[in-house]
Order: sequence, then C-alpha cells, then structure tokens
Amino acid sequence: MAKKHEGLAVGIDLGTTYSCVAVWLDEHNRVEIIHNDQGNRTTPSFVAFTDDQRLIGDAAKNQAASNPTNTVFDAKRLIGRKFFDSVVQNDKKLWPFKVIGVNDKPMIIVKYKGEEKRYCAEEISSMILTKMREVAEKYLMSPVKNAVVTVPAYFNDYQRKATIDAGAIAGLNIIRIINEPTAAALAYGLDKRTNCAEERNIFIFDLGGGTFDVSLLTIKDKVFHVKATAGNTHLGGEDFDSRMVDHFAQEFNKKNKVDITGNSRALRRLRTACERAKRTLSFASCTTIELDSLFNGIDFISSITRAKFDAINMDLFIECLETVESCHNDAKMDKSSIHDVVLVGGSSRIPKVQQMLKEFFNEKELCESINPDVAVAYGAAVQAALLCDGFKNAPNLVFQDVTPLSLGLAIKGDLMTVVIPKNTSVPVKKTQTYKTTEDNQDSSVIIVYEGERARASDNNLLGSFNLWLPAAPRGLPLEVCFDINENGILVVSASEKSTGNRTEIPITNEKERLSSQQIKEMTREAENYRIEDEKFLRKANVMNGLDHCIYKLKKALKRKDVKLNLSSKENDKINNAITKATNLLDSDKQSEIDVLENHLKELDSIFQQIIGRYV
Ligand code: AMP
Repeated sequence: MAKKHEGLAVGIDLGTTYSCVAVWLDEHNRVEIIHNDQGNRTTPSFVAFTDDQRLIGDAAKNQAASNPTNTVFDAKRLIGRKFFDSVVQNDKKLWPFKVIGVNDKPMIIVKYKGEEKRYCAEEISSMILTKMREVAEKYLMSPVKNAVVTVPAYFNDYQRKATIDAGAIAGLNIIRIINEPTAAALAYGLDKRTNCAEERNIFIFDLGGGTFDVSLLTIKDKVFHVKATAGNTHLGGEDFDSRMVDHFAQEFNKKNKVDITGNSRALRRLRTACERAKRTLSFASCTTIELDSLFNGIDFISSITRAKFDAINMDLFIECLETVESCHNDAKMDKSSIHDVVLVGGSSRIPKVQQMLKEFFNEKELCESINPDVAVAYGAAVQAALLCDGFKNAPNLVFQDVTPLSLGLAIKGDLMTVVIPKNTSVPVKKTQTYKTTEDNQDSSVIIVYEGERARASDNNLLGSFNLWLPAAPRGLPLEVCFDINENGILVVSASEKSTGNRTEIPITNEKERLSSQQIKEMTREAENYRIEDEKFLRKANVMNGLDHCIYKLKKALKRKDVKLNLSSKENDKINNAITKATNLLDSDKQSEIDVLENHLKELDSIFQQIIGRYV
C-alpha cells in the first residue's frame, strides 16, 4: 500500500513535564532517540520569558526559581480546556504564573521584554514543539516538516485538535495523533516481535508527569490490536510532587511559624527539591532536602522516608490500580492471560506503584526492558516511519486503536442510544437510522453524548445541531452517521433522504468538557446506577410505547379509506383508554412503571381486538 505522506517525519512525545523526539533510521533499521543541546534525551516542557529573551526546555526550567511568574509549564494541562473547567480552576491555584479567562479560553499572562504578553496553551505547546523540531533538525541536518505527536488516550477531540493547532503554530504538519500507551506498545512490540508468532496480550501501564494511561493490547505477527483503554489526564508525577511540597510546607510552618505557600519563589525551589527527592526515593529508603534561605532568610533542612512518601500518596496509587482493574474488566480478559505488563512513564519507577501492580497481576514480573522515559517517542517514530515514503526500511506493522467512551445520541424520552460502543476500534464509521416522532416535524435536533449511562443527559454533552425536515407524518427516516478518524476526532452528520438535506458538525468542546476524573466517576457511577438505569430504561420504553399506541389508535380512528363500524361502547372504550393513557403520560406525578405497563397492554389489546378487525 502506498504511504500517505512524502518525505520524512519525526515522532514527538509532547509530555506534561518532559518532551522527547525520535526518528526512524532507515540505514540502521532502528529508532534513534535524539539528544537535545544539553545532551539529554528528554527536554523539560518549560518556556520562560525574561527581559531580553525567551527560553525553552532545560534553560527555562533551570531559571524557574528566580523567575517563577514568567516561567510557564503544564501547558498540556490547559490545552483544549475552558477557563472554568474545574481542572483549570484547581491547577491555577498551584501555578506561580497567572492564568485569566478570555471568552472562557484560558490565557497565560507573562512579562516579556518589559511588556505584558498573553499566550494560550496552544502557543506555549507550539514553542515546545518548535524546540523539539530544532533538536531533530540539528541531528538530521535537514528541515523537519512532518511529525507524529502523541496524546493521552483519554484526550478528547478538542484537546486533540488543539494539539494539532499547536503543531501548525510551530510550522509542523502533524500527520497523525496517536495515543501514548499505543505508541509505547509499538515500541515494546517492535522489540519483542520476533517472538510474536503466537498471540501475546500486553498490558501497558503508563504513569508520566501529568497523565496516567493504561491499555490492553494483543499483538500477533505484525498486527497490534488495542482491546481496551482507560486513564486519567490529571494524575502523575506532579501530583506526587505536590503532596511532598504540602508535607514540607506544613513542616516549615510548624517549625518556624511562617507560611511559605504564598511565595512563588520559595514554592518553586521546594518543588524542584521535592522532585529530586522523589526520584531518589525510587532507589533509596530515605533522603534529605536542604534549601538555604528558603524563606525570610530561614534555611530548611529535613528528610523523608520512602514509607512516608508512599503514605502521603497512597490514595493516588490506589486510584491508579482502580483504573488498571477497570481496563481489565472492559477487555473481559483474565489477569492470568496477560503475557507482559510493560512499565512506561517516569513515575512507573516508584517502587510502591510497581509492588501494587505486581500484586494485582498475581506476582507477575513487570517488564522494564524498554526505557520508560522514551518509549512513547520511540513508538511515535515507528508510526511516522509507517506513514511516510521517505523511510524505505520501516517495519511492517499494523495497529488498531479504540474509543475510550461510548458515543451516541439522545432520543425521545432522554434515552441514550449508543452508536459507537466504548472500546470500538478506530477509525470507524457507523450509520444508524432514526425516525421522527411527531407529524410534520420541521426539524430534528441531533444531540451527541459520550458516556455509559442510560439517561442521555447523565452523560457528557459533546454537541448538538438541527436537521431541517420536509412536512411528513411521524416515522420519517433520518440517517445519522458517526465518523471517527485515525486521530480519534469525531464528525457527526445527519441526513434526510427524500430532500437530500444533510448537516454535519465536527464535535468540539461545546460546553465544559469532562475532566478525566469526571469520566472515571461517570464510568464508576454507571456501574453503581445500573439498576436505576434499568428502571429508567423500562419506564422510557413503556412511555414511548404508550405514546406510539395512542398515535396508532388516533390515526386509525381518522382513516377515511377504511370504514370502522364501531359500536358506541367500543368508541367509548377507545376514547377512554386514550384519555387515560394521555393523562398518564402528561401527569406531573411519576406514574409507577407497573401501572404504565398494564395500561400499555390494555391499549395494545384494544387496538388488536377492535381496530385489528379492520386493518
Ligand atoms: P514522563 O512524563 O514519562 O517524562 O515522566 C516524568 C515524570 O516521571 C516526572 O514527574 C518525574 O519526576 C517522574 N520520574 C522520573 N524518574 C523518576 C523516578 N526515578 N522515580 C519517580 N519518579 C520519576
């Protein structure tokens, strides 16, 4: 099959805390992780603004303590989100730089060359992408135009699109967005592929600086098939750092009776020391922190044990394991059928996390054969080689990713009808036919949701649009098509055949989108509320049934082509039954399901016995 893109492309892992760039080397038949100008394989996702220059990467991070309000990081936590998103509101309190909302878009305020400047998250991310492109160009000694960029599996459409926009601002053509755990699986699979004639089930555990993703895949020969994915776009190493910062800030307060939490410079210095201490605790059982003149000339010297670090983060570690479990349940695969559990992301080095994961998998040895810091960029580079004709010796692989949540529409009675179930392989295109529910309806509102609840409005609203319709009796068929492309971006279209009317919308961030925490809660709630949902479904179905039966009866009574020879008793019986059903449907007080079901049966039998004689 001809490749889709001309020339070369690099793979970029645009991380919350660190980024990494890699390229497939045709002549050596392998991926090269490209070192930056400091000789490091990963580059901090930091951008700083000073009186005379802009700094990106290591240089920006190194001066963060002396210039905290103009040093920007965590742009990935902002990208594609609205200002009033609870995630943005919570994070904002912790950042030393200022974020304001402009038309509900978060804007970062910094001072650059003496002037106030405003940047959106896409612009900051584009600066990091520019840096990664420059790193690659220096190594390849040629311009780099195309890139495959990775995102957390749980990134929504808007976050994916915003990432593509960031690429465009950086002058990069992002030829494909792929999910981080899938990229890691590609890296792992490529390494192990020689042994993959038999089907292998691989579990990828990717705990990075700001996000957490898990995926379960099967690899057979050259085909990688994602079975299930789950994650949290707001859980990672930075959260563990924050817990340690809080712990030491309280200790400082207790010892010296001063609160440092309002001082950005002291907090930045403490955070950097905490990150270092956290890394040390991955191989030592205790470590110390020493900061000269941390606040008001007071030095701070303290220590922390691994046990204490584990204790202050235990609820977050448990959250990780719950996500592992839910991914497993979704894939309907027994733990014992997992061949390899692969660790990805810097935070997967935390011993307690490894221990809990190992216990979960019945003491299975965890696989650390791939470098957790660079695996994602490695996989992105493999994907880039698969897509571009500039690589002649690229490995011959195929992979299929999945949708993390079910996607569907609201139909009459606020019912969620699923068009694309969760964990369906993408790209995917599915069309379903619906019927209008009123006579002479002039339009139909298509309301698109994602989520697992039976009541549509309990799910997350993705968008809505109107399809204009010709005058027709109820039951006019409409076709609704859900199309998810290779980047996981959804377009919904609706059409009416007789007029050829067609409307489509790319689904974007219509209203405040869900945080991954909310998604997780919704998925958990969906489980808890199953009984309630079943009851809701039963009721919605019977109400729709009653409505349809009333419509059928009224229509039959009005027919001119068939002469109904009804006795006055029969006429009364039908009219009474219609009135009772209409009252039941209209009544404000909630009718019992049994009452509704009994009346539906009665109405149906009246229709069969009386009208059935004629039609
Ligand atoms: P990534 O997003 O994969 O680059 O992961 C970065 C995160 O991993 C940061 O929060 C780092 O502090 C964390 N990290 C890196 N090495 C270690 C380590 N040895 N122990 C614990 N956390 C680490």
